[in-house]
Amino acid sequence: MRLVGWFEVHGRDLPWREEPRDPYRVLVSEIMLQQTQVDRVVPRYRRFLARFPDVIALASATVEAVLEEWSGLGYYRRARNLHAAARVIVDAGGRLPATAVELRRLPGVGEYTAAAVASLAFGEPVPVLDGNVLRVGARFLALDVPARSARGRRLVAGWVGELMKDAPPGRVNEALMELGATVCTFSTPACSRCPLAGECRGRTSGNPERWPERRRVREPERVTWTAAMVFDGSGRLLLRRIDGGPILRGLWLPPLARLDPGDDPVRLAACLLEGKVVVEEGVRAVPVRHAIAHRRIEVHPILFPSPAEAQPPDHCWVDPGAPGVPTSSLLGKLVDAAAAVCGPRFVAGID
Ligand code: SF4
Repeated sequence: MRLVGWFEVHGRDLPWREEPRDPYRVLVSEIMLQQTQVDRVVPRYRRFLARFPDVIALASATVEAVLEEWSGLGYYRRARNLHAAARVIVDAGGRLPATAVELRRLPGVGEYTAAAVASLAFGEPVPVLDGNVLRVGARFLALDVPARSARGRRLVAGWVGELMKDAPPGRVNEALMELGATVCTFSTPACSRCPLAGECRGRTSGNPERWPERRRVREPERVTWTAAMVFDGSGRLLLRRIDGGPILRGLWLPPLARLDPGDDPVRLAACLLEGKVVVEEGVRAVPVRHAIAHRRIEVHPILFPSPAEAQPPDHCWVDPGAPGVPTSSLLGKLVDAAAAVCGPRFVAGID
């Protein structure tokens, strides 16, 4: 088959494509690749597997350790679900389920991930309908309905199913995903390099870019926070674990509070510390910007020198350069903003 032949020659050499496929490794890579670019995933995937080489190692770890290893990758719910899934798998005997239907019962495993693991690791003929495959399918078939509609998905799935009659299902899925990522791209399909060009109705139409239909972009939600950054006499930073809320749960960051219009960030930050730790007057640093899913967050770091030695409950003192607890890349931005005001040894710099 031309498509799979093309993939054998032109597919990128990625660590999760090593043969024979290990179902646990396929699961880890697919979950990491949700919402994160391939080049960012590659080094983190290697590191994650060095620390948790198999499902038993992952299930035996604490969720804190898994979140720490996930630090900076974002979308931390993926890490919590992956850890929970490992425990379910180990409780059931230690083998990953081999069908997409069973895989979907695992925490955090949706239709796409289940199909990817079932086809790549176990050879089940189920199509992976991710954005790349839907785009290639919509163009190849010149769909007259939106690719993401129920009918569009059915038509693309039927086409992929036909391809799977002539080649291993995992290979077909992977080749289509690769084609969408590297050749039949969103803005500039490179039809002259495409193994499907001979039969592609989108190419024949002369305007393959018209597929898929453009979706309305969701407006980001804009929020503002204040961050109470307390440094003790040795430059340690006080962090608090975020226990609730829809984002950053389980991660350690300086105490944070949402600012409403008219709120004073310095006063609100000081309120977060009341009764917990003795601090001197707060100093403002330049606000930092951070994006989490559809939220665009502006964070006002307020720096507080503290003579305190004590550690309030639910807080911990860390070296800001090597915190050693699960955290977000937001912490690095806040620490950089603080360093810009006071230099690397923060407390000494705050007058
Ligand atoms: S021929 Fe062009 S439009 Fe058709 S699948 Fe290939 S790259 Fe996409």
